[in-house]
Amino acid sequence: MLIDGQIVEGQGAPVAVVNPATEETITEVNSATADQVEAAILSAKNAFRDWKRTPAPERAEMLHSFAEWITANADSLAVTLTREGGKPLVENRDEMGWSASCLGFYAELGRMERGRVIPSGEAGQLNLVVKEPFGPVAAIVPWNYPILLLMWKLAPALAAGNTVIVKPSPYTPLSTLEMCEAMAKLFPSGVLNVVTGEAEVGRTLVASPDVPLIAFTGSVETGRNVMRSAADTLKKVHLELGGKDAFIVCEDVQLEVAAKGAVWAAYLNTGQVCTSAERFYVLGDIYDDFVEAFMSETQKLVVGDPMDDATDVGPLVRGVQRDRVEAQLAAARGAGARVLVGGDRSSDRGYFLNPAVVVDVDESMDLFREETFGPVAPIARVSSLDEAIERTNSSDYGLGANVYTLRLDYMLKAMEEIEAGTVWFNDPLTDNEAAPFGGMKASGNGRELGPEGLEDFRQAKHVHIDTKMDMKSWWYPYKEYVRHQAEHGTAPG
Ligand code: NAD
Repeated sequence: MLIDGQIVEGQGAPVAVVNPATEETITEVNSATADQVEAAILSAKNAFRDWKRTPAPERAEMLHSFAEWITANADSLAVTLTREGGKPLVENRDEMGWSASCLGFYAELGRMERGRVIPSGEAGQLNLVVKEPFGPVAAIVPWNYPILLLMWKLAPALAAGNTVIVKPSPYTPLSTLEMCEAMAKLFPSGVLNVVTGEAEVGRTLVASPDVPLIAFTGSVETGRNVMRSAADTLKKVHLELGGKDAFIVCEDVQLEVAAKGAVWAAYLNTGQVCTSAERFYVLGDIYDDFVEAFMSETQKLVVGDPMDDATDVGPLVRGVQRDRVEAQLAAARGAGARVLVGGDRSSDRGYFLNPAVVVDVDESMDLFREETFGPVAPIARVSSLDEAIERTNSSDYGLGANVYTLRLDYMLKAMEEIEAGTVWFNDPLTDNEAAPFGGMKASGNGRELGPEGLEDFRQAKHVHIDTKMDMKSWWYPYKEYVRHQAEHGTAPG
């Protein structure tokens, strides 16, 4: 862990870090005790005074150096990530690239402006909106993109002048811990702190009166708990939560392209992406051909050792996660769904599950309504784009949605009507760090990336400056002002 610039061991209970591909324990990582969490918060609080005043170009240089360190250590970090999280190595190498790029983006954005000048009500006055950091921010992160999702918080938070206390997922702390030494060297003591542990450590951060902002990515259920407990100290919560993204396939698509895109969107990171496509709505005319093409592409995927570059689909992160996916599949089957391929375990060792294609599904089934977070693609037939959009919007979630079509009228309709933070046309799951990412409805209330992602880590202060030392006509006695108004219809000059 990293507390006040020092690398320290947790003094709390050990938590096993397990390799999802082998089910073997890699190591144990001690949790932070409540006292250690408090020490990390205090160090972030103390460091905030100077960090807030550090010139933005200096902060930018440090963020760039951090990006360079990640790039230089990408291979090692990616291997650690694969060992602890099971995501294929090829994907984790990309995660390092995106993470470095995010740091570079906010390093520059953070020095562009810190507010605006607004027209004042009178000559000789100046009205400013000054954007200020909050203070010590807690960044609570899940296991599916442990470094990237951390950077989406840490980069804008630091660029805006906040200090940060990071809590990685107990499943994937090793890659974050690997960065601690670099963080200690690159940033002043206390600016960046890392505490490890399970939910309790997160709860302590959320409960602290000294942490004014929680930046959280995780499940809807935990998001609700975070929001509830944040109410006690009235702190701001930035929530990036789960999803049940729809994937709509219109009748004008090139089948092979749409099927390959759909397979990518369904199974990337073994379906453990918050924006994984988890519900497919296919327009009637092409439904049968699409299902056929989708099945054929699914059967080509290589499931296996995530360290092997030939692997397309690795294991799920934990046994409980696989159990959850299997339970959803079993319940859907019980309700009449048909699993055309996959859904079975591909190995006795490791939390592997063969990618599943499921038909005869509808929104009465959890599989088609609740987040699955596994390699399962349930496909339903719809009669029109209107029906597809209506069913897309019938969900509580609103993270992302995909539409395959080249018809401009379809694009405009879908763009306007779909209730989701991102709508992708013909290019699933492609983020752009200059554009905001986040959810509508139960998928959250924050935005990461883009200028919006910086804004979420700043608060606005209005500064009203009058450069004249004169009496104001509306001061006491107030009745004089009122009388003048009544007699002349204007304020006294
Ligand atoms: P999770 O909610 O179980 O845990 C997330 C983090 O919160 C972990 O670090 C955990 O230790 C911590 N935590 C747990 N209980 C807490 C509490 N009461 N107070 C404070 N912290 C607490 O989620 P997970 O299983 O790690 O991640 C998977 C979920 O994350 C999925 O639902 C997925 O959709 C979501 N996710 C969302 C996005 C997004 O950007 N919207 C991105 C990735 C993952």
